[in-house]
Amino acid sequence: MQTWMDLKKLLERLDRRGYPAYRDTRGSYQFPDYVLSIDHVQGDPFAAPSRLSIHVSGGRAGFPRELYRLPCQRLALQDELTRRFGRQAARFSFQARGSGQSGLIAVSRCGQEVLERTACRLDEGSGDLLLRLEVGFPADGRTINARELGKILLDYLPQCVAASLLWRNLDAGRLQAVADLAEDQQAIREALPKLGLCAFVADGSILPRASGVSQKPMEGAVPFRSPRELAVTLDLPHRGKITGMGIPKGITLIVGGGYHGKSTLLKALEVGVYNHIAGDGREYVIADSSAVKIRAEDGRSIRRTDISMFIHDLPNGRDTSAFVSEDASGSTSQAANVVESMEAGTSLLLIDEDTSATNFMVRDALMQRVIQRDMEPITPFLDRVRELYERYGVSTVLVAGSSGAYFHVADRIIQMDRYEPRDITALAKREAQAFPLPAAPLEPAAEPGFDRRPQPTHGLGEGERVKLKAMGRDGVSLNRETVDLRYLEQLADGEQTAALGYCLLYLQRHLLDGRRTVGQAVDRLEAVLEERGLEALCESRSGVPFLARPRRQEIFACLNRYRGLRL
Ligand code: ADP
Ligand code: MG
Repeated sequence: MQTWMDLKKLLERLDRRGYPAYRDTRGSYQFPDYVLSIDHVQGDPFAAPSRLSIHVSGGRAGFPRELYRLPCQRLALQDELTRRFGRQAARFSFQARGSGQSGLIAVSRCGQEVLERTACRLDEGSGDLLLRLEVGFPADGRTINARELGKILLDYLPQCVAASLLWRNLDAGRLQAVADLAEDQQAIREALPKLGLCAFVADGSILPRASGVSQKPMEGAVPFRSPRELAVTLDLPHRGKITGMGIPKGITLIVGGGYHGKSTLLKALEVGVYNHIAGDGREYVIADSSAVKIRAEDGRSIRRTDISMFIHDLPNGRDTSAFVSEDASGSTSQAANVVESMEAGTSLLLIDEDTSATNFMVRDALMQRVIQRDMEPITPFLDRVRELYERYGVSTVLVAGSSGAYFHVADRIIQMDRYEPRDITALAKREAQAFPLPAAPLEPAAEPGFDRRPQPTHGLGEGERVKLKAMGRDGVSLNRETVDLRYLEQLADGEQTAALGYCLLYLQRHLLDGRRTVGQAVDRLEAVLEERGLEALCESRSGVPFLARPRRQEIFACLNRYRGLRL
């Protein structure tokens, strides 16, 4: 293998030549502590930056096996190392200068959630460490400035590696704390089903965020404290005893006056499907990992989803057991979101009336008298919520500040009162008796059918050139067909969105064949991701981009919103 000295000589030869000559740097170079690999070289200084990777052997990296015994710990450690490397890289980014992206040194920017990313891989067997980064190869105009690149590759990066990827230079106690937190979080996740809970919110948690544009914890917020009736104490492997609110399976209402913290609690549950970093305030807020936030989503595409349990007998005679719409209404979109989440295997729905279609959620008594049931195509969620739990095991946590209609069907009613939860189940149930349920209970609906077997879409086959573009957190496009993902509120990171684009393409190329159902195709895809990692999705030769693993629920959601889906 070539060494860093060969690289140094090569750079001397390349200096002042035309930019494309940088291509000659592709390859691997042995440094004292690691191998630097230049995987993809940008075509010009204004193009997307070059892709590099750093490979540290297990022996050199030296992370003790104890630190990543569990998969959740390995994920947390990878996340921590990415953050550490990122802080180092930020010190040196743009210290080398030139035109366009010259001098950029970047890794994934991690938010509050701990996600599996292509940015960093710690091999569970060998302990080998891989870190991916992007570097803007410096130029003056379009002329190579190899002296500046030399600074980055031969001076800055070795410093970054030494300060962030070698165990012997790191604070052992801090890393142990990261591994311990991950194990405690996993312990809570595993305890939930055993205790019949769908979520846990520890006392002392800080739920609100600093602002609409910052996910950091709010300062001076009222810490969470469980009502006595719902308090649960868990014994965690590292932190020991921890008490908090256990939300039982079934139907839970969150009520209370406006601005008392209802949506903030629900939001914390939504992101409780992920683990959070220390200091976030939501480290011990853990929800059923399959939980899906359900909302109205006017305008979405629906491709043959069976929404008949909520909508039937439309005036235009359209078949609602294989409902198709290019521009769904509030109620049909929300119905599709529920049924598709069931197909994706969720056992917890999270709904906020703020973002729901009212006619999907309730119909009041007076309206029922005036408009008879057989004249109304919508069976509101209210009439199905118990059935969802009893027949399909799907629990619901619902924020309902303005309608008491759900008091009858709820198992638990929590009032948020100046940011403090109270269990008002008994009181609310007593009051509800004075308002008898207006209509006789419904017949249960036919089980929704999930028998959709998409054909591959033209122009996306293997070997065909496909334009794949991610638009931040908001969506992806495949050959200019945009998939709008703005309303998937549990997508935590733009890298997940990007990964969804790759998932969609992989499904089209390899798994949708007209025989597999959507569920079977996603099962296969997940098996591939489990076995070969997110890297399996990247089939182009231009190196592995920064991607973060999306959940199964979002993979389904992305496929379901793809307007090119052939059914
Ligand atoms: P609701 O949904 O009940 O109308 P929100 O959850 O939107 O109320 O909260 C209203 C405001 O209160 C938000 O600005 C939020 O950041 C803030 N807030 C929520 N929880 C707390 C808390 N525990 N301490 C301080 N402020 C909070
Ligand atoms: Mg609200």
